[in-house]
Amino acid sequence: MSQIIEVKVPDIGDFKDVPVIEIAVKPGDTVQAEDALLTLESDKATMDVPSPAAGVVKELKVKVGDRVGEGVVVLTLEAAAAAEAPKAAPAASPALTPSPAAAPLPAGSYTGAVDIECEMLVIGAGPGGYSAAFRSADLGMKTVMIERYPSLGGVCLNVGCIPSKALLHVANVIEEASHFADVGVAFDKPTVDLNRLRAHKEKVVGKLTGGLAGMAKSRKVEIVRGYGVFIDPHHVEVSLTTGSGSELSGEKKVIRFEKAIIAAGSQSVKLPFLPEDPRIVDSTGALELRQVPKRMLVIGGGIIGLEMATVYSALGARIDVVEMGDTLMAGADRDAVKIWEKQNLHRFDKVMLKTRTVGVTCRPDGILVKFEGEAGPIDDQKYDLVLSAVGRSPNGKKIGAEKAGVTVTDRGFIPVDKQQRTNVAHIFGIGDIVGQPMLAHKGVHEAHVAAEVAAGIKSYFDATIIPSVAYTEPEVAWVGVTEAQAKGSGQRINIAKFPWAASGRAIANGCDYGFTKLIFDDETHRVVGGCIVGPNAGDMIGEISLAIEMGCDAVDIGKTIHPHPTLGESIGMTAEVFEGICTDLPPIRKK
Ligand code: FAD
Repeated sequence: MSQIIEVKVPDIGDFKDVPVIEIAVKPGDTVQAEDALLTLESDKATMDVPSPAAGVVKELKVKVGDRVGEGVVVLTLEAAAAAEAPKAAPAASPALTPSPAAAPLPAGSYTGAVDIECEMLVIGAGPGGYSAAFRSADLGMKTVMIERYPSLGGVCLNVGCIPSKALLHVANVIEEASHFADVGVAFDKPTVDLNRLRAHKEKVVGKLTGGLAGMAKSRKVEIVRGYGVFIDPHHVEVSLTTGSGSELSGEKKVIRFEKAIIAAGSQSVKLPFLPEDPRIVDSTGALELRQVPKRMLVIGGGIIGLEMATVYSALGARIDVVEMGDTLMAGADRDAVKIWEKQNLHRFDKVMLKTRTVGVTCRPDGILVKFEGEAGPIDDQKYDLVLSAVGRSPNGKKIGAEKAGVTVTDRGFIPVDKQQRTNVAHIFGIGDIVGQPMLAHKGVHEAHVAAEVAAGIKSYFDATIIPSVAYTEPEVAWVGVTEAQAKGSGQRINIAKFPWAASGRAIANGCDYGFTKLIFDDETHRVVGGCIVGPNAGDMIGEISLAIEMGCDAVDIGKTIHPHPTLGESIGMTAEVFEGICTDLPPIRKK
């Protein structure tokens, strides 16, 4: 017997008249008891209205923007029919974002022998994969993680975030020391022992990856070393690997899983016209630090290319950068990039914007590169090292996803909903393989959501914002809405900026060129974006991220007492600038 029930806003504490900010369902959708139907947002928190029963949504009684309070009917639900409804895959998920693929490809069906059985299988041991595996194990699931390489940690720990930061720290110290002569303390020009520097970087990486192996063991997460591909929706075949890389041993194992999380990451994009030569490298090759070239070309003016340019320049290389777009560090606010450019003039011989590399010839005396575009020099240029840093592509097409019925886009991404489910309800996707931004901190959060949902916990990836940081010299960090985005979308914003020329700590530290900027919603005065340029910007952007997530307005930030003298107090002062009450800047002229 079906029964029509009215779903009402439950007790939401003292809040009345709260706006509906998201509706997760539409008439005809099948929902389970406790699934989120819609989201309300008060001054201080967002709250989901859960479904009181399993059923089929009949009629919506509210729309986004409506204001509601306890007892208001938000929709009607045909209750008993849902209990009889067929167990369609999307019904398992509240699907705040609709499940991305309606018609999965035909999946394989494996009936052979099985070597290992588990509740949760994680493919890939990068920051996404190990976080997912550890959270799954902590939630009580028997967990297996497959990784083709001998050390855990994926790109981030082995050939990405961590080794690059170990070298950037050294580069920053070299740079800073070189400026000290101006204040009366002169150091000799550094001598660089590349072997020891490389060993230092490897030690940093080893400490972290070794720690991960220990944590896996203490959680009883079984690691299977090999290359995994799906052979059907519940089986993966692993070609075991050996040695220091991913050489196949010839042995295979089949793992049967109840649930799986795909965390197979991404790899550097290869430009087809670049020949094979040890002097032409991607970021992994550059981090090997085999030589310090006299002249180095960086193809691609994004964060990874510019971080590596900072390292090699501090070690003594002269750098050219070629970028097809019209700016370096695309995505960051222009005013911040301008300051970064001014501080970095000394590194670069040429910064070639709106220019492409069209030909590369390897000769014994160097790599000859031909350019085309607005800034390209007329003559071919000769380099000792060429770094190609033109982006990363997801590994979605390399894991036999079609055999499991999992949809992969043409570009190799695996679409997922807000609970990290792929179109196959018991298989999840996280990290670089599910989309931009390809950043470790995004992958880790997605990992926790996927593991929790798989364990039956009601969890969503509902972060409002994901911060970005260029760990260059100086650092540039931004989060939320940028000025350009607001302009493009027509969002009405107000901007407040605090120049570090007025910061005691910045002056003392010799970085008074920096700034802190906050972007506020014009109507609510809530902070919606922020950008910092200067040393430690990456460490400070977290406060702005928290403020955005908490829905803070300028008063909340300005009235928060920050320690003095710090670079971080510039965030509070920027909010005071917005409020017109900053006493660390000249008075605002009355009109
Ligand atoms: P990955 O780290 O790519 O890990 C995937 C793992 O899966 C790999 O270990 C791979 O071997 C394994 N694998 C793939 N396929 C299979 C298979 N079929 N079977 C078994 N194993 C498989 N991000 C930041 O947030 N901050 C930074 O400062 C930063 N710096 C970076 C610097 C550089 C030079 C680079 C290249 C990247 C940087 N990133 C940074 C990006 C960051 O490294 C990635 O976003 C992050 O590693 C993605 O994590 P993941 O778990 O999705 O995948």
